[in-house]
Amino acid sequence: MAQHQEQHTIDVLLEETRKYPPPPAFVQQANVKDPAIYEEANRDPEQFWARAAEELHWFKRWDKVLEWQAPSAQWFVGGKLNVAYNCLDRHLATARKNKAALIFEGEPGDERVLTYQDLHREVCRFANGLKQLGVGKGDRVNLYMPMIPELVIAMLACARIGAPHSVVFGGFSADALRDRINDAQAKVLVTADGGWRRGGITQLKRAADEALRQCPTIEKCVVVKRTGHLGNDALQPGRDVWWHELVQSQPLECPAEPMEAEDVLYLLYTSGSTGKPKGTVHTTGGYLVGVYATTKWIFDLKEEDTFWCTADIGWVTGHSYVAYGPLANGATSLMYEGTPDYPQRDRWWAIVEKYRVNILYTAPTAIRSFMRWGEEYPMRHDMSSLRLLGTVGEPINPEAWVWYHKAIGGGRCPVVDTWWQTETGHILISPLPGITELKPGSATFAFPGIDADVVDDQGRSVPPGSGGYLVLRRPWPGMLRTIYGDPQRYVNQYWSRFPGVYFTGDGAKRDEEGYIWLLGRVDDVIKVSGHRLSTMEIESALVDHPSVAEAAAIGKGHQVKGEAVVAFVTLKEHIQSSPLLEENLKQHVVHKIGAIARPDDILFTAELPKTRSGKIMRRLLRDIAEGRVLGDTTTLADPGVVQSLKQRYGEEAEA
Ligand code: ATP
Ligand code: MG
Repeated sequence: MAQHQEQHTIDVLLEETRKYPPPPAFVQQANVKDPAIYEEANRDPEQFWARAAEELHWFKRWDKVLEWQAPSAQWFVGGKLNVAYNCLDRHLATARKNKAALIFEGEPGDERVLTYQDLHREVCRFANGLKQLGVGKGDRVNLYMPMIPELVIAMLACARIGAPHSVVFGGFSADALRDRINDAQAKVLVTADGGWRRGGITQLKRAADEALRQCPTIEKCVVVKRTGHLGNDALQPGRDVWWHELVQSQPLECPAEPMEAEDVLYLLYTSGSTGKPKGTVHTTGGYLVGVYATTKWIFDLKEEDTFWCTADIGWVTGHSYVAYGPLANGATSLMYEGTPDYPQRDRWWAIVEKYRVNILYTAPTAIRSFMRWGEEYPMRHDMSSLRLLGTVGEPINPEAWVWYHKAIGGGRCPVVDTWWQTETGHILISPLPGITELKPGSATFAFPGIDADVVDDQGRSVPPGSGGYLVLRRPWPGMLRTIYGDPQRYVNQYWSRFPGVYFTGDGAKRDEEGYIWLLGRVDDVIKVSGHRLSTMEIESALVDHPSVAEAAAIGKGHQVKGEAVVAFVTLKEHIQSSPLLEENLKQHVVHKIGAIARPDDILFTAELPKTRSGKIMRRLLRDIAEGRVLGDTTTLADPGVVQSLKQRYGEEAEA
């Protein structure tokens, strides 16, 4: 944040006038269709959340809904519950007992279906296994795994015995794993021999071994046999144990530990788009209530639905909307292990057709890839089962939204653009699909009970039609409670910019009708001759051009203008770059936004640098454009991309 001192607010607004009212057929069957829910929740947010909490199982009811002394929140004070009990046991006395809880498809095409009863049994066995390894309440357990059912089983087993888990995305390197294990001071690591990815094997155990050489707190390592390419000699005697051997003789029941509502459920590190990842701390009661209610209402979840959130569980989206949210609701959650283009670029659509997926929740980065590949892939499949689509992770360009709505949703499915963060635990800004009239590119309105505002430098609400900083004025149940091991960073990062108000770090605008439009990170704002341009708006203007698949805009120091716009552009398949196209794209931005936003430079590139969670890393592009040493690159998906861009940018600057 210190990088730019904000003087004015973001003041360029992109014109987007398309509107999509909820289709009558959708409204008819929607879980919520009465807009009074907003008023009710805002009149008494605590009562609103308490009502959602009452639908869950509490060993002991809370004494007080909220204890708030900014920046410290405690929800459901005095209440006792267990997350695994709520995700499993609660359903076993109902018709859900033999319903599919998890449907898993591996990349090679293998399938596994676990009913609620199955999942309960596997969770109990592994929980007993963890106990045997010496894991007790409060001990941290690190999970470094592919997208396989054992990952969900391990999370729920930890929750069952009160051991906070810390999941590290399986695509991270040994060093990234080591740092996260050491930060969490974990006692046990759970990993796998490997996972399947684009036909090859990701060498998880090898990376884990490398990391564990420098992880003094780890006592035991449990290894799932997934790929089968390692023998017993790959286990380090005394430290390592195969998962299947550990659970083999465990009892089928394990009591669910009654946890205080404010006991820690998990730690999770942010994506690192803006800098060093932060270890967010999430607790039990509030988090579960938040993910339960948002899953039910935003995704309009029905008993017979198959819900597919494509996020890896290594990210918060996977925690909340592959595992905890759907399972707390007794839903069927689908997990897929591999990449969308293996063996072909229609893999996801084949999965939608095969399992008759009803709700699909994914990220703009994936949607833009599909757009680039073309409509022919989804067109090969019958996707008529889809009823609702969602996106999360980055602002979605209106063009990508409209494409998603049409090419994937067949024009009949509402698209919920959901804004939230690792820190927030669950969705905070999103349409309610049975109520909200959608505008492509807008996350629309705060969820009931959430007080989101757009403010200027002084923390004053901006008038309709203006932009500023997105803040949250009131605590919400799933919010992070602190940053693990660094309480001061928690206060500085989120609660110091505007005292008593949560600072999201994102820029936003609110239009005349009160819709919220996310404009990307405040750090990413570009200042050209005193005008504040949002990267999102320039990128959307570029993606609006028929030749462009993806774009990243950044500001580069300029002697006269302060900053000049530089754009990195990926073209659609079969489109060739040329000086004429470059000129056309610049003109297109001028036409959509104005001369002030005209890029000085456009660099065509086959790939943009992204985090492992698929977000464009503009800070590295700024470093490249300014010829600086690259900042923290540990969360980068493919370091080769920045290296080649750096080289090319240097050459072009010299030429
Ligand atoms: P770090 O905080 O480490 O820099 P990060 O912010 O990318 O990483 P996440 O918590 O994974 O880590 O991402 C949350 C951010 O993603 C939000 O602050 C916002 O910038 C962006 N985001 C998420 N959903 C949306 C959305 N629907 N529209 C716009 N932006 C979104
Ligand atoms: Mg962030």
